[in-house]
Amino acid sequence: MFADDLFSENLGKMPCAEAKNFASVSSALSRLSSEYSFLKTECIGRSVMGKPILAASLGTGENSVLISAAHHANEWVGTQVMMCFIEQLCRAYVSDGELFGVLAKDILACSRLYLVPLVNPDGVDLAQGKLASGGFFKLAKCIALGFPHIPFPQGWKANINGIDLNLQYPAGWEQAKAIKFSQGYDRPAPRDYVGDGPLCAPESIALARYTRRISPGIIIALHSQGEVIYWKYSTFEPTGSRELGQSMSEVSGYELFETPAESGNAGYKDWFIKEFDRPGYTLELGLGENPLPEAQLPKIYADTAPMLIRAALWNCYKA
Ligand SMILES: [Zn+2]
Repeated sequence: MFADDLFSENLGKMPCAEAKNFASVSSALSRLSSEYSFLKTECIGRSVMGKPILAASLGTGENSVLISAAHHANEWVGTQVMMCFIEQLCRAYVSDGELFGVLAKDILACSRLYLVPLVNPDGVDLAQGKLASGGFFKLAKCIALGFPHIPFPQGWKANINGIDLNLQYPAGWEQAKAIKFSQGYDRPAPRDYVGDGPLCAPESIALARYTRRISPGIIIALHSQGEVIYWKYSTFEPTGSRELGQSMSEVSGYELFETPAESGNAGYKDWFIKEFDRPGYTLELGLGENPLPEAQLPKIYADTAPMLIRAALWNCYKA
């Protein structure tokens, strides 16, 4: 099975691409896990508004890879990519088919994949206009009034309380705070507010706990945009990290990039690299202004899925 099969019809009619907010992701995971018994789902925590943060897992191999999407609300293209990847992988597996030239059964024999498609379900729903009333919406709207240069709600990146979930991790959090405060993000904001302390937002806490429990060999965080791969934190360079980054760059055309100093702290991949000393990546999907237009999704998927496959196969066949 190839990407062309999945996207040969009107993309908007494809179930995988429709899964991009809390309601649609929940129902898609429920449908997929009942259709494919080897796909397991669990709740790893709850958002500020109490929504379950869901994780899916599949595969039987030793190479564990934890892939997350939508730390940032208006970057749900990563959620769509992940949901399509899960669906395509499941379909290919049961039909003994391939995904981008690799047998699905080889992918799942090599690795166990852990997938968290919506780290920030409240924020994504807000940015998509799915949340348009109630106390949490009013609070967010009030926060946004203080930042009139950021379009509301589509410019929203934070969780529903105005905390940037990818500035929440204990890896240079104080430096991130100093930088962001100096830029005017010194209070809850649609983006770039680090919070009162590291790991105070329930969504980031949930992902950090899950990561510690799984102790994956590799993590990948899907963000947008820029078509780049961030792979370093500070002076840390885990064994194999550059090589896998180069392999992902080759297969996608994305540039392997040193993290710029102003955004090089307190992110999920920064924390993972620092705490685990294993390869961790932020993939910036697509090009343009977030949220990216739906028309980009086929290309973004075709660029990203092969990178995920490279990571999944990494410790079995060094690509
Ligand atoms: Zn992001």
